[in-house]
Amino acid sequence: MKVTQVSENLWQLTRLGAFNCYLVREVDGLTLVDTGMSGSANSILATAVSLNQPITRITLTHAHGDHAGSFDAVAAQLQDADIVLNARTVQFLVGDLTLLSTEPQDKLRGSFVTCTTPATRQLQSGDCLGSLRVVAAPGHTPDQIAFFDERDGSLIAGDAFQTAGGTAVAGQMRWLFPFPAMATWHKETALQTAYTLRDLNPTRLAVGHGRVLKNPQTAIEKAIREAEKSMKVR
Ligand SMILES: [Zn+2]
Repeated sequence: MKVTQVSENLWQLTRLGAFNCYLVREVDGLTLVDTGMSGSANSILATAVSLNQPITRITLTHAHGDHAGSFDAVAAQLQDADIVLNARTVQFLVGDLTLLSTEPQDKLRGSFVTCTTPATRQLQSGDCLGSLRVVAAPGHTPDQIAFFDERDGSLIAGDAFQTAGGTAVAGQMRWLFPFPAMATWHKETALQTAYTLRDLNPTRLAVGHGRVLKNPQTAIEKAIREAEKSMKVR
């Protein structure tokens, strides 16, 4: 697993070149955001050991297998960690893929996994998890949330954007790395989320697939323009 320190408080952990999870430093330890595909647990835990800090909280951006695949395995080895999940993600993780009546009734895409580790705390949009503010970020999936670090403006956006193969709003195809687009549920909702995340004016954009962008405004605007254009022609 490749480990990249992105800022004073943020590390990107990358498996197979394009599958990211993140460690966020807090005063009492590390928050793990996403757990990678199955088989990532030992590398994640070894990274925390190398940073000489305990993982005290585990959370997920959404319930796709490349983000939640090692969730149970990591949690099993961190019995004292808080397990903090979006309420909507909890529903997906128990295998209930029913859409809410308020959500677009489009087909869910991508591979959702089931997990058995119960949440010790459930999140809603606007809640804080340490220094991270939770921002609802549906579109790629209904349950996706993003995390905005109030200390330095870093944004962990899950798959709301990708930077692998070129920066894109969820649902916009990048042929060099097509998987996030292929796994996206509802493009129009993803575009609304892109506006919301842009308006946070992040200093860094950290995504599930691809490198972290510093000062990402221009790249985000360009990706949004392209998504808008593709939706007009539909
Ligand atoms: Zn995903």
